[in-house]
Amino acid sequence: MQHASSQPSAFYDPLHHPYPDPQQPHAPSYWQQHSSTQWPVTSHSSIPAQAELVVIGGGYSGLNAALELAERYQQQVLLLEANHIGWGCSSRNAGFAMPSTGRLSYAAWAQRAGEATARAIQVEYAAAFERLQGHLHACPEQLQQQPGGYLKIAHSAKAVALLAKQFTALHHYEPQTRWLAQAPLAELINSPQAHAAIHFPHSYGLNPLLLASSVARQAAAAGAQLVSHCPVQHWQSLADGRQQLHTPLGTVTANKVIIASNGYTPNHLHASIHGRSLPVLSSVLVTRPLRADERAACGLSGDQLVMDTRALKYYFRLLPDGRLLFGGRGAIRGKDANKALYAQHLLAGLATTFPQLASLCAEPPEYFWSGWVSVALDDYPRIYSPAAGIYTSMGYCGAGVTFSQLAGARVAQLAMGEKLPELPFYQSALPRIPLPQLRRLGQWAYYQWARWQHN
Ligand SMILES: Cc1cc2nc3c(=O)[nH]c(=O)nc-3n(C[C@H](O)[C@H](O)[C@H](O)COP(=O)(O)OP(=O)(O)OC[C@H]3O[C@@H](n4cnc5c(N)ncnc54)[C@H](O)[C@@H]3O)c2cc1C
Repeated sequence: MQHASSQPSAFYDPLHHPYPDPQQPHAPSYWQQHSSTQWPVTSHSSIPAQAELVVIGGGYSGLNAALELAERYQQQVLLLEANHIGWGCSSRNAGFAMPSTGRLSYAAWAQRAGEATARAIQVEYAAAFERLQGHLHACPEQLQQQPGGYLKIAHSAKAVALLAKQFTALHHYEPQTRWLAQAPLAELINSPQAHAAIHFPHSYGLNPLLLASSVARQAAAAGAQLVSHCPVQHWQSLADGRQQLHTPLGTVTANKVIIASNGYTPNHLHASIHGRSLPVLSSVLVTRPLRADERAACGLSGDQLVMDTRALKYYFRLLPDGRLLFGGRGAIRGKDANKALYAQHLLAGLATTFPQLASLCAEPPEYFWSGWVSVALDDYPRIYSPAAGIYTSMGYCGAGVTFSQLAGARVAQLAMGEKLPELPFYQSALPRIPLPQLRRLGQWAYYQWARWQHN
C-alpha cells in the first residue's frame, strides 16, 4: 500500500502546526502515480519585496484567483504555495465534478432565502460548471473525463422515503434528474445498500491532478507568478493598511491579500478568520484493478459516480483502469490520518456496500490518503472580505471541485472592487464557531451520533 508514512515530516494538522512544512511531497495518491502532469515553471528561490496582490494557497481557488487577476485585470499577482502547486485537496480529491457546493439543497435554500435565491444559486452553479468545462478543454487529456452522471443512493430501505421527497423537490429545479427505483437501479449497481437512487446525468468524474495542473498552466501563461514551497509563516497587518507576509524566501509587503488556503488554513494565520471553519479529514482508498468476475458481481457499469445517504457518506467510482476508488470520513486529528485503522474503516464500508468483494476487502488497498476539507458552521461557503485589504474564499464543506473554479474568480473580482451577485455566498462572513477550541470534541460527538443514527 502507498501511504504517507514515508513522508519526512508529520502529517500537517491546521489546528496544531503554524503552517505546512514546505518539504512535503504530494500525497501518495493514485493520481500522483498514474498521471502525466505538466506543471508550469514555478519559482522557489525568491519573492519580491513588494506586491500589489498576493494569493496564499495554490489549489483550485488560489490558482483561479491568480488566473482571473492576471488574465482579466492584467494585475501583477504573486501566488505563494506552501508546497508543490496543488498540494492540498486540489491534487488528492475523488474527482466528483458536480454543480453544487456546501450541503444545502435547492429546497433548503428556497426555505432559507426564498425561491428567487434558490434559482439564482442554480445559475451560479451552472456558471461554475461552465468554467470547469473551460479548464477541461485546456487540458490535452480532457481531465480523463468519465461522463456517467452521479447516483445518490438510498443505503437502506428506511432512507428511500426521504430520498424520494428530496427528488420531488429537486426535480422542480433540475427536471433532467431521474428517479431510479430498486429494479432499474439494480441494472447499474448490485449492492444490498442500493435501495433507490436519484441520477444526476450531467455530473462526471475527472482526474483532479490534471485539473490542478491545467489551471496552473493557464495562470502562469496569463502572467501570474507562482511560487512553490513558500509557506506564509507569520503575518503582520501594518498601520498603513498594507499586509506584511513573512516566508522562508523573504518578506513581501502587499496592498491586498487573498486567503485561498481553505481546509489547510493554519489556525492562527490571521485573526480575522480564526475559528470560522472546521478542518475535517476526508480519506480515500484505491484498490487493485477489479477482475472481470468481481466487476460483474458488483454490476458497476464503469462511469457513474456514487454517493450514499448516510450522515457520514461513503462515495465511490470505478476508475478508467478498473480500480475502485472508495472514500469517506477520515481520522479526526492529523497525527492519526495515516493509521491503518482508517483504511480498515473504509474497507469495512466497501465490504458492507459490496459483500461480493469480500476477498478484495481482505487485501490492503493499493493506495490510501487523506486531506483537509473546510466545513462551515452553517453548511455553505463564503467569499468575502474579513478585514480591509484581505479577501477569502473558504468553507466548501467537501464539495469544491466545481465551485472553487468560480469561487477563485469571484474572490479575485471582489479584491478588484467589483460587486458580486447578490447571493448568500457573497453577502456575509463565515460564522464564528462557538468555543472554537472545542471544535474537535464537537466533531467526535457528531461522528458518534452519526454512526449510531445511520449505520
Ligand atoms: C479525500 C478528498 C476527496 C474529495 N473529493 C471531492 C470530490 O470528489 N468532489 C468535490 O467537489 N470535492 C472534493 N473534495 C474537496 C475539494 O478537493 C476541495 O473543496 C477543493 O480542492 C478546495 O480547493 P482549494 O484551492 O480551495 O483548497 P486546497 O486545494 O486545499 O488548497 C489550499 C492550499 O493552501 C496551501 N496553504 C495552506 N497554508 C498555507 C500557508 N501558510 N502559506 C502558503 N500556502 C498555504 C496548502 O498547501 C494548500 O495547497 C475532496 C477533498 C478530499 C480531501
